[in-house]
Amino acid sequence: MKPDDPSNLQPTTDTSVALAQRLRANTRGEVLFDAASRGRYATDASIYQVMPVGVFVPTDDADVRSAIQIARDLKVPVLPRGAGTSQCGQTVGACLVIDGSKHLRNVLALDIERRTARVQPGLVLDHLNAQLKGHGLWFPVDVSTSAQATLGGMAGNNSCGSRSIAYGNMVHNVIGAHLRLADDAALHAGPVGGLSGRAAEAAQFVRRLADAHRDEIEAQWPRAMRRVAGYNLDIFHPQSERPYTTNGSVNLAHLFVGAEGTLGFIEALDLRLQPLPRAKVLGVVNFTSFHRAMDSAQHIVKLKPTAVELVDRTMIELARANPAFKPTIESALIGAPEAILLVEFSGDDRDALRRTLHRLVELMGDLGLPNSVVEMPDEAPQKALWEVRKAGLNIMMSLKGDGKPVSFIEDCAVPLQHLAEYTAALTDVFSRHGTRGTWYAHASVGTLHVRPILDMRRDGAQKMRAIAEEASVLVRKFKGAYSGEHGDGLCRGEWIRWQFGAKLDDAFRAIKRHIDPENLFCPNRIVDPPKMDDAALFRFAPSYRTIELKPVFDWSAWNVQNDPTTESVSAPGSGGDTTAGLAKAVEMCNNNGHCRKFDAGTMCPSYRVTRDEQHLTRGRANTLRLALSGQLGPDALTGDAVHDALDLCVGCKGCKRDCPTGVDMARMKFEVQAQRRRRLGATPKDQLIGGLPDYARWASRVPWLFNLRNRSRALARLLERFTGLSAQRRLPAWRRDTFERSADALGAVSREALLAAHAAGAKAAVLWADTFNNHFEPEVARAALQVLRAAGYAVHVARGADGRVPCCGRTHLATGDVDAARAKAQALLDTLAPLAHLGIPIVGLEPSCLLTLRDEYLVLGLGDAARTVAAQALLFEEFIVREARAGRFAPPFHAAVQPVLVHGHCHQKAFGLMDGVLAALRLIPGAQVSLIDSSCCGMAGSFGYEAAHREVSMRMAEASLLPAVRAARDAIVVADGTSCRHQIADGAQIAACHAAQVLAAHLAEQAAH
Ligand SMILES: Cc1cc2nc3c(=O)[nH]c(=O)nc-3n(C[C@H](O)[C@H](O)[C@H](O)COP(=O)(O)OP(=O)(O)OC[C@H]3O[C@@H](n4cnc5c(N)ncnc54)[C@H](O)[C@@H]3O)c2cc1C
Ligand code: SF4
Ligand code: SF4
Repeated sequence: MKPDDPSNLQPTTDTSVALAQRLRANTRGEVLFDAASRGRYATDASIYQVMPVGVFVPTDDADVRSAIQIARDLKVPVLPRGAGTSQCGQTVGACLVIDGSKHLRNVLALDIERRTARVQPGLVLDHLNAQLKGHGLWFPVDVSTSAQATLGGMAGNNSCGSRSIAYGNMVHNVIGAHLRLADDAALHAGPVGGLSGRAAEAAQFVRRLADAHRDEIEAQWPRAMRRVAGYNLDIFHPQSERPYTTNGSVNLAHLFVGAEGTLGFIEALDLRLQPLPRAKVLGVVNFTSFHRAMDSAQHIVKLKPTAVELVDRTMIELARANPAFKPTIESALIGAPEAILLVEFSGDDRDALRRTLHRLVELMGDLGLPNSVVEMPDEAPQKALWEVRKAGLNIMMSLKGDGKPVSFIEDCAVPLQHLAEYTAALTDVFSRHGTRGTWYAHASVGTLHVRPILDMRRDGAQKMRAIAEEASVLVRKFKGAYSGEHGDGLCRGEWIRWQFGAKLDDAFRAIKRHIDPENLFCPNRIVDPPKMDDAALFRFAPSYRTIELKPVFDWSAWNVQNDPTTESVSAPGSGGDTTAGLAKAVEMCNNNGHCRKFDAGTMCPSYRVTRDEQHLTRGRANTLRLALSGQLGPDALTGDAVHDALDLCVGCKGCKRDCPTGVDMARMKFEVQAQRRRRLGATPKDQLIGGLPDYARWASRVPWLFNLRNRSRALARLLERFTGLSAQRRLPAWRRDTFERSADALGAVSREALLAAHAAGAKAAVLWADTFNNHFEPEVARAALQVLRAAGYAVHVARGADGRVPCCGRTHLATGDVDAARAKAQALLDTLAPLAHLGIPIVGLEPSCLLTLRDEYLVLGLGDAARTVAAQALLFEEFIVREARAGRFAPPFHAAVQPVLVHGHCHQKAFGLMDGVLAALRLIPGAQVSLIDSSCCGMAGSFGYEAAHREVSMRMAEASLLPAVRAARDAIVVADGTSCRHQIADGAQIAACHAAQVLAAHLAEQAAH
């Protein structure tokens, strides 16, 4: 293959069929060649989209070797990939993509004495650092994507973190690279003195090339430490202001750092580790002018901080507008600054650090800015503020409409003395092109992030080119580096020749030809790259179209356009979306990969157990986008590829809260299910689950009959065949003594008495017992009633026109029957809205049901009544904590004798309600209440009961919830979700209860009666 022959990138269909067959026959890895799988690997966090030939997920190094050889044989190029969070299109290409992130993720060796580690390329940085923490060590290249970025990807991109001024880039911290080359040879790169075989040959070749180009290197190479473009030919004549090695030696591994997968597949990396600093202090310098902030950075770095990070006014305001970030950002501000610099000092001697912090205060005074520093000597507030800073880009990306902040000059690096002039000039460039950018990040090393807002479907490409060209003039004027952090990829490849000149560009070509003579790895990257504005490579090219669709939910909030100069958005529904906003909601996913999270948190439970791109919020959003834009063929939205991608989504709403751009996959899944049901009709399982509230009244009259299935294995197996519900699961047992028939409920105050009590200013509330608590666990609703009564409330039990506890319709929503759901919702609103209208609180118990009133009801076209009820609908704990804080809730509780362990329902977490649950339980004197660090329990409504999901459901539960409850046998386990309680009972044989039951059990004797 010749490097510049584009036909290299277009293997024939026959070739890809042969490739898939041979991979399946000769490896143990996953071979993903269907359109949806390829589509999910066609994008990264850049603006580009290129369909790969196929995707291969190797289980081990042997798989990698076989795959490379098969691909070579068939002349299909190979593209190694980690988390796919690159911003310049490094991980997209018409190649065989080899995803090392699923299985190649072990620490192979750890030498604590010498502070080194050998790791596989798919290991995530945070996971490495978690393993190192106990040894007092860390790998200090702290990229913002530390929870997703793999070490292989970081090496590929020569990544750099916030603390690069102290620790350098990836290239300064890698001491060995072990590669598999196209011809199956192994290349072990390390210090040049000790090389042999292919590594020695390569070193000799590169040394000769470097010597021959010494003058060009000295004349053309940017001196900035943050220079990540091209190949590191300067290893033999170092130009970086921070040398690659501390002793002046040459390490061949540094040639492969920043090579962006173009030279070979990294099988392992040797890393130099650093001691974890024992202490950190932070000074937040407030500036009334952006220019002053930029100008001060050069003076501040003389104090030798470990980080100097910028947050500008726009980002400060965005953070202020976000309830989660508001208190943190405000704690760092003095007045209304135009910019702040976060200046961190770290080391082992806290007193010495405090003295340095004081010197920062003095320095700012000397610079004419007295009283401008907020001192943060303690770690907790520092950590919170760093989280706001790390969320910076993501906060910006939540802009709705087709104009998006685009990364293409995001990381030009200029010497600090020119930072103020450079940022001012680039801001002028933006305004000349009718846009603007928000500035943030690494002021310490002159790499400020900025993304102008461009609409790639319209005139974005032209503006991108014009702005890039003007930015390049500035970078040259200030002797900076055009690519200071994010690498080359598709976006900046063409600027390599501009930056280094023709001779060095040819030298890079020579390196590529020497190490990868067949041009197997990532052709047309770094060497002979395409134009950055080639529309054929765009995810949203001007030719991008969406299908015509009438969605069942109201997505109009996303159907808007924005003004790039003011960032104001047009009225809901005015965006011109052919799917009335659904497509634009899906397109909010910018592929940043934040959902590839493994900490307990909420997002994304299915990915956490499968580690498959398909079962990740990003993978789902990409599948939907491809379907909605017709790229997966006709009717794809209701087809199997979309169904499969959504199948393991448990609807936890974790993404609605945790995804930086607010992708709400749970609602999208409901939408797709409704569309699919419209086209294909309902399955028996859908009818059984969806219709549960309707047949509940009969089931509760003859519970022995409906519960037979739980007693007969044969019947359970038979029903599994017809309904898909697992025979290995006990279903919730039907009860004759439903809540609505109980003496407690029948004795509750009437509607008239409630209205009278409310009118008289007495304490009054409506208790709405959902279908599940009403029929399966009536003791939960009875307990809630008891507690509210004990606290002196006039409690009315909500009943519909038929005298029964009304259902919210959630089971219909979950099975795609939106009409039935809407009818149920309307009936419930008819009951509740007149009471809510008077300001009477509606108290519910089952998180998923009650929160449906505050979420899905608002997009079902139910009008004002839905908004009125949503405003008054509260979960039981929310209500009592609110009342307790207002001095209205103080029933006598006796002291707790057992610790209380709480598992949060996903929707409680997604709505940020867990603090309220803990606070409610802490109303019990002496209660030791703790929260389990758990994700979804795995049951998630009917999900875990289904035979097809049982295994994955149990894996979700075993990830953290079940081990935690098993380890705390003496504790009361609280889980407000009905299905969570069932999962705990099934998996750990422990009876969990609702918080209302715990509070009721602690009512003092006289209050309980
Ligand atoms: C919101 C956001 C914030 C970011 N912040 C930072 C930041 O602070 N600092 C920073 O430097 N970057 C940042 N990035 C860019 C990106 O996250 C980093 O470059 C990251 O290190 C890439 O890791 P990855 O696992 O996603 O690699 P990928 O994107 O999957 O791959 C990166 C490159 O490495 C190559 N590669 C991967 N595995 C191998 C292998 N086994 N052998 C050979 N080559 C391989 C790929 O071919 C590709 O060229 C950010 C990106 C986003 C979206
Ligand atoms: S779903 Fe959200 S978190 Fe995941 S990649 Fe897309 S934007 Fe990022
Ligand atoms: S709703 Fe939950 S399971 Fe579904 S994509 Fe979002 S985080 Fe993942």
